[in-house]
Amino acid sequence: MKKYLPLLLILLWSCQAEVEDTKEQSTPEKPEWAIVIHGGAGNIQQNGFSQERQAEYQQKLEEAIKVGSVILENGGTSLEAVEASIHIMENSPLFNAGKGAVFNALGQNEMDASIMDGESGKAGAVAGVRHIKNPISAAIAVMEKSPHVLLIGEGAEEFSANNEVEITDTSWFYTERRWKSYEKMKQDKHGTVGCVALDKQGNIVAGTSTGGMTMKMPGRVGDSPIIGAGTYADNHTCGISATGHGEFFIRNVVAYDVAAIMKYQGKSIQNAATYVIQDKLKSQNASGGIIGLDGQGNIIMEFNTTAMFRAWGSSKQPVASAVFKGD
Ligand code: ASP
Repeated sequence: MKKYLPLLLILLWSCQAEVEDTKEQSTPEKPEWAIVIHGGAGNIQQNGFSQERQAEYQQKLEEAIKVGSVILENGGTSLEAVEASIHIMENSPLFNAGKGAVFNALGQNEMDASIMDGESGKAGAVAGVRHIKNPISAAIAVMEKSPHVLLIGEGAEEFSANNEVEITDTSWFYTERRWKSYEKMKQDKHGTVGCVALDKQGNIVAGTSTGGMTMKMPGRVGDSPIIGAGTYADNHTCGISATGHGEFFIRNVVAYDVAAIMKYQGKSIQNAATYVIQDKLKSQNASGGIIGLDGQGNIIMEFNTTAMFRAWGSSKQPVASAVFKGD
């Protein structure tokens, strides 16, 4: 009998673990799936932003979040949801990503994007691409089909073309609004897009796509394609997508910092996000924000600007969108 005692103990322990797992899964507050997106953050003055324009943005944001929500509701993966939601925003001239990408100092569009899978820890990114219609798909191709994490410029474009990612002429990215802001040399800094999703399998994926900053130097790379700065995902902590003044987000390793605070200090995603955005970045005069969610489907949208284009939803919450603080 004595020799079976360890076996019995293991058996008892595993039954107990199973009971606890089921308890966790059936916690009433935890949604089956959740999704959150951003379309950039900035210090926009509400009185200079017409209601029609705000409605136009919110309509697009809601279209994007609905596409991701339907995928998740039907049992699709968070990767599929993130890619589809970001495509809607990349194909719209409203956001600084894909179609609406801003112009650099030479009047060219150079785009960056990244993706990270919170289950496997795999990641993919592209930077400085000029002919890829949906840079988020190129980032996914790098993650899934290459042994690397980050490809830049022509190498990234050639790789994408060989992996069925749509290539387009640079004229696709011409929008009058961005050209005007380039011509006026305005510092139209914000408008990046991002998405973080939790699927029914409990997997978190985060993705970000951007045209960078207006008038940036050719070859400049921001935080958006840098894993840990603009994008991060780990099923054990959270998924994060950032938007804002990229140089500060790189120096502060923002997306990973939120995850690290959760992991090493045991803080909630909201506490970690508030600290990084409102204390740490604000004290450096760094503007921007983040969206994210944890493994329990808790969503955060934290920004230190007047506005962040954002939308969210889950199996327990109908989709909604907002622009200004307090909306
Ligand atoms: N973070 C982006 C960059 O620095 C820009 C933005 O989010 O608006 O490239």
